[in-house]
Amino acid sequence: MMPLPETSAYLITCSRPGAAKRAADAILLKLYCKKGGCGNCPDCARVKNAHPDIMRLDAPKVDTLREAISFVSIKPERYKAVVIENADDMNAAAANCILKTLEQPPENTVFLLLARSRSGVPPTVASRCAAVRISAEDGAEEKIKSVLGVDAATAHVLFDLSGGFFEEACEIYRDEAFMRMRAELLEMCEKLLRQKGFAVSRYADFIESNKDRLSALFCIMQSYYRDMLVYKKTKTPELIINRDAADKIMKAAPDFTSGALSNIISIILESERRFLAPVNFRLAAEKMLFCILEENAKWKK
Ligand SMILES: [Zn+2]
Repeated sequence: MMPLPETSAYLITCSRPGAAKRAADAILLKLYCKKGGCGNCPDCARVKNAHPDIMRLDAPKVDTLREAISFVSIKPERYKAVVIENADDMNAAAANCILKTLEQPPENTVFLLLARSRSGVPPTVASRCAAVRISAEDGAEEKIKSVLGVDAATAHVLFDLSGGFFEEACEIYRDEAFMRMRAELLEMCEKLLRQKGFAVSRYADFIESNKDRLSALFCIMQSYYRDMLVYKKTKTPELIINRDAADKIMKAAPDFTSGALSNIISIILESERRFLAPVNFRLAAEKMLFCILEENAKWKK
C-alpha cells in the first residue's frame, strides 16, 4: 500500500470519514501484523480491538494531543501509532502543540491524521504529513446493486449516501434505523410541500430524536428539494438522487417555482449552521419547519 515507516505522519483525506477510518485500519494491520495484515492473527485482533501501542483520538484538542505526545515518548513493543480523527477540526493552538512531534517523531512512531479534505487542516500540519487521498471506487453503484441485491433506484440512493464507497453503502443499508429515518424524512419533505395539516410539533420531535444523525438528516432534506429543483429545470429523471421517491418528486415539481425551492434549500443550509451552535434544539427544529412552510405559502403557484 505505502512505504512504512519511512514517513511517519500521514494525512488521509476522504469525503467519507468511515472510508478514511477503514484506510487507517488497513495501514495499522499492515504495520502490526507479522504476516502483512492477514486480518486473522492475534496481532490483527489486537489492532481491531484495543492495542496498547495504538492511541485513537476523535478530537484533536490541545490536552488530548499532549497526551498523545507523552504516549509516543514511551518506547513501544514494535511500533507506536496515533490515529487522529477529524484533523480538520484542529485549531491553531492544537496545531502548534503537535507540530514538532510530527516533524521529528520518536523512532518507530506513526501518526495517521484523518480529515474530510486537506484544505480544512492547518497548513503547517498538512505540510508535515504525506498525503493519502482516498476516492470513490469505480463501479461502486453496480457492485452495490448486485451484491446487496437491491433494485436500481435503491442502489443509486445508497451510492449517493455512501459517497460511492461500497462498504459504507453496505453499512448504511444494514442500518435499519437509518433507513427508517430516511423513509420518514422523505415523507416529511413531501408533507411539508403539501402544507395542509402539517404536524410541526410531531416532526420537531422526529428531528430531535435523530440528533445523533443530524448531518445525514440535513443532507437528505437538501437532496430532496435539490432533486425537485434539478428535475424542474432539466426534466431529466436520471438526475434525481432520491430515485425511490422520484414519482412524488416529479409530480410535485411543477407546483413550485425555482425561487421557492432555492429558498427552501437555503433555509435548510442556514438551519444546519444554527444547529451546530448550542441551541434550544426543539425550538430550532420548529423554526426551520415553520420557515419552510412559510416559503411554500409565499411561492406556491
Ligand atoms: Zn495478522
